[in-house]
Amino acid sequence: MGSIEMTNVEELDALIIGAGFSGVYQLKKLRDEGYKAKIVEAGDGYGGIWYWNRYPGARVDSHAPHYQFSDPELWKNWHWKQRFPGHAELREYFDFVAKKWDLRKDTYFNTYITSAHWDETEYKWIIKAKDGRTFKTTFFLPHTGIAASRAVPDWKGISSFKGLIVHSSYWPHDEPELKGKKIATVGTGSTGVQMSHAISKVADELVVFQRTPAMPLRMRQIDYADDEESIPKSEHEDFFKTRSVGYWGFDFNPMPKNTFDDDEASRKATYESLWKEGDFTYWLGNYADTLFSTEANHEVYKFWREKTRARINDPRLKELLAPTEQPYPFGCKRVPLEQGYFEMFNKPNVHLVDVNDTPVVEVTEKGIRTTEKEFDFDVIILATGFDAVTGGLTTIDIRGIGNQSLKEKFSQHGPTTYCGICVSGFPNMFFSYGPQAPTAFCNGPTCAELQGDWIADVMNSLRRAGISSIVADEASEKAWVDHVESVAYASLLPQAKSWYMGDGIPGKPRASQMYLGGVPNYHAKLKSCASSGYKGFRFEGLKV
Ligand code: FAD
Repeated sequence: MGSIEMTNVEELDALIIGAGFSGVYQLKKLRDEGYKAKIVEAGDGYGGIWYWNRYPGARVDSHAPHYQFSDPELWKNWHWKQRFPGHAELREYFDFVAKKWDLRKDTYFNTYITSAHWDETEYKWIIKAKDGRTFKTTFFLPHTGIAASRAVPDWKGISSFKGLIVHSSYWPHDEPELKGKKIATVGTGSTGVQMSHAISKVADELVVFQRTPAMPLRMRQIDYADDEESIPKSEHEDFFKTRSVGYWGFDFNPMPKNTFDDDEASRKATYESLWKEGDFTYWLGNYADTLFSTEANHEVYKFWREKTRARINDPRLKELLAPTEQPYPFGCKRVPLEQGYFEMFNKPNVHLVDVNDTPVVEVTEKGIRTTEKEFDFDVIILATGFDAVTGGLTTIDIRGIGNQSLKEKFSQHGPTTYCGICVSGFPNMFFSYGPQAPTAFCNGPTCAELQGDWIADVMNSLRRAGISSIVADEASEKAWVDHVESVAYASLLPQAKSWYMGDGIPGKPRASQMYLGGVPNYHAKLKSCASSGYKGFRFEGLKV
């Protein structure tokens, strides 16, 4: 692409997309390093997914104090009200961060980015917003998150429904009345589990449409009094050091032994103690081979199944919700946390429709028709997920060297990245919490800080050397993609249909979206790349 003639263009060192954990951290970091940087955000507030996901029951499953920034200026002055904070508290936290870090002066809300094109002559990105604004920037940092592009079923008649139909992540800011209503929730992933349970408390009638049973764990929620904390402030400094070296970005790790190293009795006792934690420990802090050995995974499933079936009265529902035959490896679809999801099905006003048995035929004016019957609803809520991980990037018309399109590149074999942070052919573009990094297998803020720091370091290195652009070479990218796939295929992940593997979106190639090698290995890879003078990258354009 040649040089572009433009007027009214805002010139920047870095344009960051997204006001979630990644974008907010990046702005603070880059400003501290003296860069002229701005955030552009489609929503009109901070929080990223917590701005959008305000459906009933929406709360984080990473327990306090994990899910926050490690800056002492913040945690010394912030008090969490719950061990698992809800969406409203998380937005309050973001507003607090925005004040402390003085973010507003460098944030444009209600600004949706539609295109970003690399100008090979000037070594700059030309970025356009839907409202016509244009930015010219040396670095393009699309921290668009994993959930920026919603997935909606292509059901016949979906637009004919006369009641309220809404995707869980477009929850109306004016809270709709749900009390006494007939409500359908579609989907039983993490969102569906949280939301259905919350709605069952107010709905006159709730029908949950399930394709695949979730394997949620019981959440041990705690309300903290004003003088109570998950851990004392005096331990926070050390806690954040431990969090950043945890395999999954938490302060706990998988156990350093395999499932059958223990006999049955000790194994059961171990499962019981992990279970009691009431957080992700039973998933991510279990025996080291849990996600890698079918036999080990089956033991974990059996324990989960027995615990779960004991909470359900109806034998038909026991089988649908916690099947005798393990439907997919435990932990290879996102494990939700719940606070009464299974007991909810014991109530007379809550029903489960298995769409494998009785598929949805169409949406009508009054409700949903399955092959068995027509259900009338006042409200239909789609907890049908996202074009996860890559959708935020591919919905923007991103074009790199030679006008190549990122969307087309990713549509061939799935995402191709170098170190899960950039793409060959797309100079000076870096993203956090994106494809082929630990991402959804890492606590969110841990990932945002680790990657945000590395991105700032690259920019500093270029500035010091007087170099205009850096781009990953194809061979290094291929080696990283192969590594990501080989780790994924050594695990049980590919045996489950899930967004971790790019499933559920028509036409999306099946490939691991996640790097499963753990945060320490990932961090070591990034650090060794930097200390080798950015091996695997090419530099272009010496600044005069
Ligand atoms: P996000 O928070 O997703 O922010 C991205 C922002 O980019 C959004 O605000 C979006 O509007 C904006 N954006 C995207 N495209 C554009 C565009 N073209 N123009 C302008 N703006 C754009 N992680 C955990 O560690 N623990 C959990 O328990 C957990 N629970 C989750 C529950 C849900 C429902 C979801 C969806 C995710 C959850 N996650 C969880 C993952 C979560 O995404 C990360 O923890 C973290 O929020 C990622 O932050 P981010 O800034 O990278 O992305």
